[in-house]
Amino acid sequence: MDNKLMLMIPGPTPVPENVLLALAKHPIGHRSGEFSKIQAEVTANLKWLHQTQNDVLLLTVSGTGAMEAGIINFLSPGDRVLVGCNGKFGDRWAELAVAFGLNVDKVTAEWGQPLNPADFQAKLAADTAKEIKAVIITHSETSTGVINDLAAINQHVKAHGEALIIVDTVTSLGAVNVPVDAWGLDVVASGSQKGYMIPPGLGFVAVSAKAWEAYKTAKLPRFYLDLGKYRKDAAKNTTPFTPPVNLIVALQAALQMMQAEGLEGIFSRHLRLMKATRDAITALGLPLFAPEGAGSPAITAVAPTTVDAEQIRSVMKKQFDIVLAGGQDHLKGKIFRIGHLGFVSDRDVLTAIAALEATLLQLGYQGFTPGAGIAAAAKALL
Ligand SMILES: *Cc1c(COP(=O)(O)O)cnc(C)c1O
Repeated sequence: MDNKLMLMIPGPTPVPENVLLALAKHPIGHRSGEFSKIQAEVTANLKWLHQTQNDVLLLTVSGTGAMEAGIINFLSPGDRVLVGCNGKFGDRWAELAVAFGLNVDKVTAEWGQPLNPADFQAKLAADTAKEIKAVIITHSETSTGVINDLAAINQHVKAHGEALIIVDTVTSLGAVNVPVDAWGLDVVASGSQKGYMIPPGLGFVAVSAKAWEAYKTAKLPRFYLDLGKYRKDAAKNTTPFTPPVNLIVALQAALQMMQAEGLEGIFSRHLRLMKATRDAITALGLPLFAPEGAGSPAITAVAPTTVDAEQIRSVMKKQFDIVLAGGQDHLKGKIFRIGHLGFVSDRDVLTAIAALEATLLQLGYQGFTPGAGIAAAAKALL
């Protein structure tokens, strides 16, 4: 049916109607007082969302562009960095760091498992010469539905004292508690099409005072993504280059919605959606890919064995207009992923689980009692 598409993927995520309407407005001049007023409000609300007094800078990039800005502004060729790799996005950090000539030391865990904070502790404690310049990790590993223990890893970084902590929070900001100042996170990168409830096109980077110190001596080349330029202009509520004006007006509307819900409301909703989804999947006899306690509140990955993941996605799309994500790289065909991040409600999860049950029946999957998934989800949502 036309106009019934329901996105249950980890980005782009669904966009609320008032945000869509904000997007539809005529663009305004980005050097106008009117625009500066909007940027001032957006910047204040971004700081609220990041729980920080640090600069939070707006870039016209996808999430990966925000990650790249997070590397090139604070490091120099040959710098030793520890990169956490337990999925596609951790690997992306490593590829990015290698591309810029950093000396990359990977801390790995199997895809589907969380990073082990003790692995970071060991390497950081052994680095008495203080050669490690940064620890770089992905908070919510979207490719596997795993949340990494950022708080614990960060404590080891703090014990080291020298290294910056650089984090991809693309699917944790706006879904999970990321108290940037309380934890002392140095560089925090995210993108608009995930928890922010607006379309793709904006990236965000929060930068600590310690990271700005590193910026002064960092030698990697930078121009468009030179965060110093953005910082200088942000102080005057403007941007160095033409910003996507309409997206920023949309962001203004989305951040107002987030403020109305409150941080606690946002975090508890995502936890509830995760629990409902995970409980339902278990009740359907399907294996969860991320172990208990390591599930991301943004996304649930499922690894069916007796029914085909791609067939499930195909029926969900064709018959129910619900889009689920597939597996990436070696997980292609092995898992499917249900996004429950951003503008997602209890009703959306109940709908997705009901459609999943109908899909499983259609595919002849025998491993469940019809209604068991819905019952488990409904109970978790109470
Ligand atoms: C979506 C995503 C990104 C950014 O991807 P882009 O396509 O560049 O927006 C980065 N990290 C994680 C964990 C993501 O989920």
